Amino acid sequence: MELSSLHANRLADRIKLKEEHVITKMANIAEGLTDVIRLGRGDPDLDTPAHIVKAGQDALGRGETHYGHPLGLPALRTAIAANIKAHGGADYAIDEIVVTPGGQHAMFIIALSLLNPGDEIIVPCPGYNPYGQAAELADATVVPVRMDMSTNFTLTAEMVKKHITPKSKVLVLINPNNPTGTVTAPDEVEKIAKLAIEHDLIVISDEIYARLTYGNQRIQPVASLPGMRERTITLSGFSKAYAMTGWRVGYFAGPRELIVAMAEINHAFAISVASVSQHAALAALTGPQECVEEMRLTYDERRKAMCEGLDALGIPYAEPQGAFYVYADVSVVGLPASEFCQRLLAEGKVMIYPGIIYGDYRDDFVRMSLTQSVDRIREAMDRIKSVVETIRAERKSA
Ligand code: PLP
Repeated sequence: MELSSLHANRLADRIKLKEEHVITKMANIAEGLTDVIRLGRGDPDLDTPAHIVKAGQDALGRGETHYGHPLGLPALRTAIAANIKAHGGADYAIDEIVVTPGGQHAMFIIALSLLNPGDEIIVPCPGYNPYGQAAELADATVVPVRMDMSTNFTLTAEMVKKHITPKSKVLVLINPNNPTGTVTAPDEVEKIAKLAIEHDLIVISDEIYARLTYGNQRIQPVASLPGMRERTITLSGFSKAYAMTGWRVGYFAGPRELIVAMAEINHAFAISVASVSQHAALAALTGPQECVEEMRLTYDERRKAMCEGLDALGIPYAEPQGAFYVYADVSVVGLPASEFCQRLLAEGKVMIYPGIIYGDYRDDFVRMSLTQSVDRIREAMDRIKSVVETIRAERKSA
């Protein structure tokens, strides 16, 4: 069989999975290693809170093992609508919300629903790369807005404006952003929203990390700004705030006119989300919320430990304001970030990811996840120190 003729290969090329080959290389390096400190994936080490797990177990015990409503369990959509509203978001009826098997699945449904071939979609760079991949599959043109330390890696209206053309159709705002862990401030979000109205853009507002912000940072939900509800699709999920990555529950919400067709497409792709997971998600929203605050404080403490370690090594980083990542500039060490990550893994047994896999245009930065305890993060920083010193010594003697 001629493998290059397989459609999967063409699709993989198209969505630039090849750029991720560094991840495969790192997985191969990690294969033979023990005691690796994993600060790579955005998967919380914290367990799903017990009352949420219990709700899932109870649902299983009751025999909730069938297909559910195609838009999602009505009680869950009611709770999602109330939760969006409670956090300053727009008012949604329950037929304006679609529950999906994770937020990532939602990105593909939304992109395939909104984008025609040749349409332009403006995405933050670096940003969560599946948005670009979803747009590529829809034959749209991805227009990256390059961010850097000058704005602490946050998107500004001025930067977005420079990338708007007559073909621009969709703008992606990820707030807080992954991989940078940075927040676009409410006044800037307002300016971006005005631009969207002026240029008739649809905004995909990814607010999956909105409950995880630090210091006095606050997330302005896009859809509740004047004139934005009708042109915004809000995407979120349970993976991050409730440590529920493996349950696979996310959702998107938007104006009925857009949602009806998208719900059809979602049904064609997924039929419905696992009923057990939806019951667990319902318990997450309707049960005690202290667990979210406890997790937020835990990440905050880890964030400080990691920043202290980086400061001691003279490695600059974007001020981490939200989500659970620190985005650090390892170019000061003297190696491209992707090479640094591989050496750090092989020699120091710490797994972190290079920013290029999130579309960063320079191979300078790394993303470090706050998904290990403070003690393990301190241990990781010691290991990083030793590898950095080795590299610096090599460069000196070269
Ligand atoms: N949005 C952002 C910005 C993310 O970082 C992620 C996962 O890392 C997702 C959405 C998707 O999460 P999930 O599919 O687990 O809901």
